[in-house]
Amino acid sequence: MAGSRRAVFVCCDGLGRNWVQPDTTPVLEDLRQRSLWCDAHSAVFPSVTRVSAASVATGCLPARHGLHGNRMGLIEGGKIVVRDVGNPDFRAHMRAATGGTLLVPSLAERVAKAGGFIGFSNVSPGAAYFLDPEHFGHVYHRAGSFAPGGAVIEGTDALSVSHDAAGDWAMTQRFCTEVLADRRPAVAFLWLADPDHTLHGVPLGSPAHHDALAAAGRCVSEVLRTVERLREEGEEILLLVGSDHGQETIGDSVDLEDWLAAHGLASLVETGDVAVAGQGTAALLYATDRGRVPLHGVLDEMRREPWADQVIAGEHLGEQGFAARGGVVAAVNMARRDEANAHGVAGRRWVAAEQGKPAAIGSGQHGGWGPDETRPFLMMNDGGRSTGTTPRPTCITDIAPSIARFLGLPGEGFDGKCLTS
Ligand SMILES: [Zn+2]
Repeated sequence: MAGSRRAVFVCCDGLGRNWVQPDTTPVLEDLRQRSLWCDAHSAVFPSVTRVSAASVATGCLPARHGLHGNRMGLIEGGKIVVRDVGNPDFRAHMRAATGGTLLVPSLAERVAKAGGFIGFSNVSPGAAYFLDPEHFGHVYHRAGSFAPGGAVIEGTDALSVSHDAAGDWAMTQRFCTEVLADRRPAVAFLWLADPDHTLHGVPLGSPAHHDALAAAGRCVSEVLRTVERLREEGEEILLLVGSDHGQETIGDSVDLEDWLAAHGLASLVETGDVAVAGQGTAALLYATDRGRVPLHGVLDEMRREPWADQVIAGEHLGEQGFAARGGVVAAVNMARRDEANAHGVAGRRWVAAEQGKPAAIGSGQHGGWGPDETRPFLMMNDGGRSTGTTPRPTCITDIAPSIARFLGLPGEGFDGKCLTS
């Protein structure tokens, strides 16, 4: 495909926009000066990685692509079963329950006969596979790498890297030499684990957070160096660098299923007629036909709890780009207090407890519609033609239509808009 247009997206998972600063992320700050910077850029709801991967890949909001969260309720045998979307086998459960996976085409499908898609991802298996859930392109992940049609890539051709900064770096080096310089697909994605992976176990603003920012910057720098070299050889490459969401601090946790059980719904929780899919700093509340009215009956009481910021239901879910279908009745955004942590980073959030997994109080988290978790960053570098700042609100759903426009592909079927339109 040498000589034709190509697009590259690098995701620095969990890197909130406020952290792109000359002293903390000098590589990103330098690139920003030579790129179009999105100053009012937003995440989708839930602001979690697996849903974000689907929104980046499709250019659509969750209301349209149909993936609900990092955990998602599926109606199986007439009951709600909450499953972890991160697991490699989640798609099989989703197909069995709903008849398919994403409801709209991914970029991988759109370019399957027009230069192809290769994605390298070092986050959860589910987040990697929802970049291309039906195997139109190549997706590489440590839990398994797949070629078009779903053929398993084996041996040293598979991606075998550690789930940390060292793995990000090894993956980036292979991405640059093998994908960017050699195989040259129309669309190439590189999705780094850091800083998100580190932040889930350390405080925002801590030395470990800064190290993770530097590690992500090093990977971006390697991609940039490769892209610039290829441009000097005459290639037309669109480079987008951004993140999927930011992070906020865990202040405390509450078990929402316990709360529902204590408010008269114990038997419905027990039978799977009411269920909670925690999304970190948010939660989705599900019900069967039998559980719906009783669940609605406790939402006002839930709204009065100190840990609940907002509880929205029914058509109001549309205000967050979400839809009340597939058993979803309501969404809870967990409350936030302004107080700062030991490193001066303001904002402490309640989180929805996950069964068997104690909340990492003081570490980072995301998932809701808090002020920092919904502020990812995005910049578009087209070799210097587009620079400055776009003041218009943008979203991670704008990445796919921007790539489609650059490649000359049809622009229909996206919720997002091309950044330069
Ligand atoms: Zn993420």
